[in-house]
Amino acid sequence: MSHSQPFTIAADGVDPKKVPYRTLPTGAKIPAIGLGTFGSDKFSGETVAQAVKEAIAVGYRHIDCASVYRNEHEIGAALCEVIDGGIKREDLWITSKVWNDMHGEGDVLLSCAKTLKDLKLDYLDLYLVHWPFPNHHAPGVSVDSRDPHAVPYIHDNYMKTWRQMERLVNMGLVRHIGTSNMTIPKLTLLLSDARIKPACNEMELHPHFQQPELFKFVVNNGIVPIGYSPIGSPKRPERDRTPEDTVDTEDPVIVNIANRLGIHPAVVCVKWAVQRGQIPIPFSVTRKNFLSNLQATVSEPLTDEEMQAIASIDKNCRLIKGQVFLWPSAKDWQDLWDIDGKIATA
Ligand code: NDP
Repeated sequence: MSHSQPFTIAADGVDPKKVPYRTLPTGAKIPAIGLGTFGSDKFSGETVAQAVKEAIAVGYRHIDCASVYRNEHEIGAALCEVIDGGIKREDLWITSKVWNDMHGEGDVLLSCAKTLKDLKLDYLDLYLVHWPFPNHHAPGVSVDSRDPHAVPYIHDNYMKTWRQMERLVNMGLVRHIGTSNMTIPKLTLLLSDARIKPACNEMELHPHFQQPELFKFVVNNGIVPIGYSPIGSPKRPERDRTPEDTVDTEDPVIVNIANRLGIHPAVVCVKWAVQRGQIPIPFSVTRKNFLSNLQATVSEPLTDEEMQAIASIDKNCRLIKGQVFLWPSAKDWQDLWDIDGKIATA
């Protein structure tokens, strides 16, 4: 017999049934907004887990996790409380990701098992390959350091990892699999060799970094784009900052729309993302902010003129450049992103 407390739904929240969703080829419905959980070194696992609980109370049903965020154990305790309190597991959408040091033939299954144990779940809705390289770095290394073992993208190796991802689907531990931080050339190779195609591709997307070609490619191939850092990641780690970076929430076009609607510029970024067709996963541990982001999906939409105005402020400003994943002979971070349409080699 369960002695758990019923989970309290917030009176000022949004009815999850009213939140838009996207339908995947399997027929599964993924909520059109999720809560990010990358607390960097700024927010403890407990703080992020508390936000997850409160976010579910205000109507979120989609949570974006990853083993490398090192808070799945705490988030698992929050999910357990929520599910024991009466929220149905099948009404939640839980994503996680395999980290770069667990690619290959054996470790993907181990990594997924650890994530399931930490999150206290018996299946994931979506499991992503976090980066297409097995390259990783010690915590806190300088942005210029290069791991001597780091390598460029090697398709045969990626496919070894992907076959394990497919196995997880066949084992019933994962309902969908997907990619993250991919490019058109890498996805083209994967699409021709995959037995189970990626359902989603998680990619950096915000008004100053719209990736129109990759966005179109993904959509045209029946893959749902999930947009990370949708607000321009104002609290991203120092290693991910360069003097050239621009600030979406200070863009006059975004600020003018925010003024018209009486909302924070961050919320305009969320509205734009949902209306354009990607699934934003804004991070926030501040109730007022994550509630506003959810309300953005059900309130007055941006006008066509506003959508066009935002389309014209793309600055191709990638924030998460991935420098720490570069291999010793790589020129610079652009080598990670196949800028000239070719996959860089060592
Ligand atoms: P976001 O663009 O989501 O920015 C988060 C920041 O915006 C927080 O500092 C938050 O502050 C602030 N914020 C959120 N909502 C509002 C609001 N309504 N008004 C004012 N400020 C607001 O950045 P992230 O880089 O965290 O990206 C989101 C998520 O994407 C991550 O948490 C992670 O889950 C995922 N991600 C995935 C990656 C991948 O490689 N696949 C890479 C990077 C991120 P506050 O807490 O005070 O509200």
